[in-house]
Amino acid sequence: MCGIFGVHGHPEAANLTYLGLHALQHRGQEAAGIVSSDGTRLHAQRAMGLVADIFGSRTLEKLPGRAAIGHVRYATAGGSELRNAQPLAVDYAHGGIAVAHNGNLVNAGELRARLEAAGSIFASSSDTEVIVHLIAHARESDTVERIVSALRQVQGAFSLIFLTETKMIAVRDPHGFRPLALGRLRDSFVFASETCAFDLIEAEFLRELEPGEMVVVDASGKRSLFPFRDMAPASPTFCVFEHVYFARPDSRVNGNSVYRVREKLGRQLAREHPVEADVVIPVPDSGIAAAIGYARASGIPYDMGLIRSHYVGRTFIEPQQSIRHFGVKLKLNAVREVLDGKRVVVIDDSIVRGTTSRKIVKMIRAAGAREVHLRISSPPTTHPCYYGIDTPTRSELIASSHSPDEIAKYVTCDSLGYLSVEGLLDAVEAPRDAQGNRTGYCDACFTGRYTVPFAHGSSDGKLIRLRRTQEDL
Ligand code: AMP
Repeated sequence: MCGIFGVHGHPEAANLTYLGLHALQHRGQEAAGIVSSDGTRLHAQRAMGLVADIFGSRTLEKLPGRAAIGHVRYATAGGSELRNAQPLAVDYAHGGIAVAHNGNLVNAGELRARLEAAGSIFASSSDTEVIVHLIAHARESDTVERIVSALRQVQGAFSLIFLTETKMIAVRDPHGFRPLALGRLRDSFVFASETCAFDLIEAEFLRELEPGEMVVVDASGKRSLFPFRDMAPASPTFCVFEHVYFARPDSRVNGNSVYRVREKLGRQLAREHPVEADVVIPVPDSGIAAAIGYARASGIPYDMGLIRSHYVGRTFIEPQQSIRHFGVKLKLNAVREVLDGKRVVVIDDSIVRGTTSRKIVKMIRAAGAREVHLRISSPPTTHPCYYGIDTPTRSELIASSHSPDEIAKYVTCDSLGYLSVEGLLDAVEAPRDAQGNRTGYCDACFTGRYTVPFAHGSSDGKLIRLRRTQEDL
């Protein structure tokens, strides 16, 4: 869970990157950074916190040049500290190189152990640094070839943007787990995790990078390479949770409008789990599009029964249970005028630990609701993600050990309905292979079908957490 952005060939590269990161802020609020190139050297600014708090005009002035890349970080692999903030920028035998990474490598732990045994010294606990070391160790004489050689050794999820003094290189892993889009702003090329970043800077969205594609931009223009063709899986596996929750609804990812997909998820949910009720309300903001879909398909009026304060981040982000509990109240408040005496259908995108839903149901009842029917626009989250979405260990995922009926009791709702896996894959238009099996998406968090195997303790930052998880897998 991170956002990445890059622009090459624009006099206001750092300012545009700042704006791009602003639009991608929902993908990570822990730290942010920008690295620019003035053609002869790289300049880096990174800090903990939100993009708007970190970058003022004084900081942006320290980032000269016509090319820049940026990153917003949500700690998945590696701890929550400044040394793990990105883009990572280093000087090595061949000059400067910086990298911004979205995704999670599943063999970073093994690679790091091997590199350390050979004398490498790591400055961070982030899995991304492994890539930089592999590049430094590569024997090839050309930068692009060194990057290819490094990336052929890593496994897992990576959407990456590299910056050297003269080149920008954007790449997606052969599975295509994480999004990455290409756009144009007059004569410059831009890259972003999501198209909403292009809208803000008025760049034209050209297309998404294909899984396994590498786009190189330099003074001679733009070219596309497919250096992992021999490693390509039978079908790409784009993360379905980007559509369910993570991406912004005004973005297009994997060929679909996130908003339209969510609205379809809500319609399908109404067909799978109908209920007699007076009002449909979303848990804002992530449940809004699905609630509109549910209301349209069921004919039950839509209303806003919960109001979100926009001055707090996503509550899930707080690492401590005690803060998270408090966080729900900080973030949401019930509207008695909408809920009093009503039979309420409340739509949320997912249940992770169940603590948020429990608080919300209580809040809706306290505002006078007669009945509370919880509907979730995705299947039960039963398995942790190893490819870049922050999910807790399996034992903390309530649906890994409890049935929907048991979860309904825990969250104290009158009824609970989850969307089926088929319903979800229909809404995202997942293609079928010759045998009729669904392809094109990673749905491991809902099914346990992991497409890239991971070794024991596979990712350094997540090491302890992974160990715990795999013990209870
Ligand atoms: P929980 O209280 O743990 O069940 O959290 C569920 C809430 O967290 C739902 O309202 C989701 O919108 C949100 N959510 C689901 N997955 C994530 C995630 N990976 N990061 C942040 N928030 C999430």
